[in-house]
Amino acid sequence: MFSFDASKLSVDNKFKIICVSCVLMHLTYLIEFFIFGFYFMGYFNIFSIIFYVICSLDCQRGTVGKHANKWINAIFAEIIVHAFLCTVFQGIEIGFFVNFLLIIPVASYCLFFYEDRKRFFKRLIAFSIIAAVVLILSIVFTQNFGSVYHLMNIHEIDDFETGVLRTVNIFYAMAALCAFTLMFCMEIFALLHKLNEKNDELVYIAEHDSLTGLFNRHALWSYFDNLSKNGDSFCVILGDIDDFKKVNDTYGHDCGDLVLKNVAKIILDEVGEGDIAVRWGGEEMLMILLGSRNECLSRAERVRTRINELKIVHDDVDVNVSMTFGLVDHSELENHMETGKSVHSSTYMDSLISIADKRLYDGKNSGKNKVVA
Ligand code: GH3
Ligand code: MG
Ligand code: MG
Repeated sequence: MFSFDASKLSVDNKFKIICVSCVLMHLTYLIEFFIFGFYFMGYFNIFSIIFYVICSLDCQRGTVGKHANKWINAIFAEIIVHAFLCTVFQGIEIGFFVNFLLIIPVASYCLFFYEDRKRFFKRLIAFSIIAAVVLILSIVFTQNFGSVYHLMNIHEIDDFETGVLRTVNIFYAMAALCAFTLMFCMEIFALLHKLNEKNDELVYIAEHDSLTGLFNRHALWSYFDNLSKNGDSFCVILGDIDDFKKVNDTYGHDCGDLVLKNVAKIILDEVGEGDIAVRWGGEEMLMILLGSRNECLSRAERVRTRINELKIVHDDVDVNVSMTFGLVDHSELENHMETGKSVHSSTYMDSLISIADKRLYDGKNSGKNKVVA
């Protein structure tokens, strides 16, 4: 429905939109002032329009960023002087003083892109204090002497003129306040989105092995915390690629990496929701599969068969791969556990892994390329 997103625009384009809006706003004032005969304020508006047109052209050339701080100070000065002159010349009733309050969202939005946190607050506070002082001065002046047009008998503002000017001023002030608040929110949401994406990326990097895409050891412990809480049946399976050193020595390290990636792909393909596959060491991979001993055994057997059937070609040579696995069902250990020892403990997990490792060793010593349970 509402698809405009200010955060997606370049800073130059954001400034250009602000400047073009200011040109249009001042054009309205210009027409109003000349129609009602406020010629001095009308001439001041011509200056304001030229000022914002030059700023827009600077944005168009993409050079506004180079002198952004000067432009922000100049825009601040333009708003202050304009609001002061209009209030003092035409009186407080026309409501131009609300533009002093607009300084805060406008300055915040513009400074946000160019200043660090410290200077942002320093300048915003300075702008706010200056705006407050000039606002008070203009109120004190008009309360004591009335408007300059009235004081000098140049122009007596009637109710109709006051009504029109006040309505236009309040409308623009409301529109600007809404626009800047919306744009600020868009920027914050965009930054939050970026931050969450980066966070997810970092969590992924912290928990995964970059070569294979499998989880690393660090991720295993948080997985195990959740697993033991659920009380599901599971098996721990430790696998080791057979004669991998030979693959490296014969075909090179790159080929070894290719084998690792292909083996990991099969393992990732076989692990389901609730399972985990971890790169335990160089060419050792650990799986925790949910399910009964028989279910896990047949899944491990399937992984072994698929790895054995892998067709890896490196430099036009077929590379044969096989892997040996040691499997342990968690209930095997629970039956032998000392009373009081929790299934949540990491020693419990260590014990399971060491049984799986022993079986893996048995598999290596009895011909390799098998699952020992
Ligand atoms: P076994 O069948 O008994 O397991 O013999 P093996 O040769 O596989 O066992 P060994 O532990 O002697 O060799 C493992 C080799 O794995 C040694 C090491 O250089 C290699 N390796 C470890 N990590 C990587 C890796 O990330 N990439 C590659 N290419 N090789 C790796
Ligand atoms: Mg090996
Ligand atoms: Mg090894």
